Amino acid sequence: VRRFERVERREPFVEHLQVSGEVDWFSLISVISLLCFAPFIVFFFVMACDQYQCSVTQPLFDLVQGKTTLLSIWARAPSFTWSAAKIYAVWVTFQVFLYMCVPDVVHKVIPGYAGGVQDGARTPAGLINKYEINGLQSWIITHVLWAVNAHSLHWFPPTIIFDHWIPLMWCANILGYTVSTFAFIKAHHFPTNAEDCKFTGNIFYNFMMGIEFNPRIGKWFDFKLFFNGRPGIVAWTLINLSYMAKQQELYGQVSNSMILVNVLQALYVLDFFWNEAWYLKTIDICHDHFGWYLGWGDCVWLPYLYTLQGLYLVYHPVQLTNIQALAVLSLGLAGYYIFRSTNRQKDLFRRTEGACSIWGRKPTYIECSYRSSDGGVHRSKLMTSGFWGVARHFNYTGDLMGSLAYCAACGFGHVLPYFYIVYMTILLVHRCVRDEHRCSSKYGKDWTRYTDAVPYRLIPGLF
Ligand code: NDP
Repeated sequence: VRRFERVERREPFVEHLQVSGEVDWFSLISVISLLCFAPFIVFFFVMACDQYQCSVTQPLFDLVQGKTTLLSIWARAPSFTWSAAKIYAVWVTFQVFLYMCVPDVVHKVIPGYAGGVQDGARTPAGLINKYEINGLQSWIITHVLWAVNAHSLHWFPPTIIFDHWIPLMWCANILGYTVSTFAFIKAHHFPTNAEDCKFTGNIFYNFMMGIEFNPRIGKWFDFKLFFNGRPGIVAWTLINLSYMAKQQELYGQVSNSMILVNVLQALYVLDFFWNEAWYLKTIDICHDHFGWYLGWGDCVWLPYLYTLQGLYLVYHPVQLTNIQALAVLSLGLAGYYIFRSTNRQKDLFRRTEGACSIWGRKPTYIECSYRSSDGGVHRSKLMTSGFWGVARHFNYTGDLMGSLAYCAACGFGHVLPYFYIVYMTILLVHRCVRDEHRCSSKYGKDWTRYTDAVPYRLIPGLF
């Protein structure tokens, strides 16, 4: 199984790698385009809010009509400040401290929570890394301190993140590029596990998609787990709280749409930390190598683009009617329920090898076999009941419903808040196609039997 995974379980661009280890032109152009344009996409959205009240079309019209230039937009952007640098340094240092120095006690207190030292998936070289799972604890400590400060200590205003949003973006970029460059140099000169390194012969590709699989400093500081979870996802809910505080400061009240965005996204974030041990077995940790894609993405793309709805609501405090608010809440909760239940059903099914109950019945499934690269034949099962009988990736459908709810909370005044659902749709449809391609080559005719039994990918009757 391990050797099969080594061959088949690859990430998007890796599928385009030729046997020689060279990168084909399509992959190379994709990588260079992302390296060049992704930072400008983030800059564009943030500046559209700062200078154009969150209109994404107005700056484009102004540029086309010659009313403004890219240079003048750039010149009006708030620059790097040392106070933002101090805030950012304190923030990252504090998260490193929580990650490295505070062993998890939450799993001893809350039954059913899998925290503390946990095993990751087996790497292609056959290693099983150990992880200290303490994300939920870090999240709780950080948010309790945030609340204590807001209500009693008043060391800093709760709007601090919004107030330094653009200078903080420069700091996040500095960290994102530093970490990616460090990971690149480290992989060449002092890799954590040389056998798990992947060199393609193309410097841009290596820099972007990463060389080392699980770079670490010392025994416990794992780059992937730390950067994805801590500066990125712990920050997500704090950023939203800061937007909420800004609305209160500017308008004397908080809109129900802002509360909805805060609540629904907090649910998603808490779910992530509650299931952090499960996350060790998903594509991000099991398949991705650590490069700019993860390092810069976690530091900049995630905190800046996943939080666009809250930012938009600071500029446009939408007040939904009760019916609209209820509709958004129902969509968000239904999406979350489907997302979580679908993932749980597969987890249970695979853990018990089908000896479980799904929706009150014994699950139905298709017996599959596949051949690993060493010639061995292995057996597996693909479930055809529960949500896995409704569509082949109904967990993605639930995720997309939740994402749409965040956007819909912002009303229909502007397109900017809808960036998230467009991005998530591209991400998950691409992931779905990629996963099916992999499963089809893994299971062959058995996969065809499965797709005959469950004909739709995301939306029954449509796709
Ligand atoms: P999945 O959890 O959907 O796992 C896909 C794998 O499950 C397949 O490769 C196959 O693996 C196995 N499988 C497929 N069909 C069946 C079946 N019928 N029965 C049993 N096993 C099956 O993939 P991800 O890791 O991509 O997603 C995990 C979650 O993370 C999703 O809910 C997704 O929405 C979420 N996500 C969120 C993102 C975000 O930015 N917010 C980004 C990416 C993901 P095998 O080879 O073992 O058969």
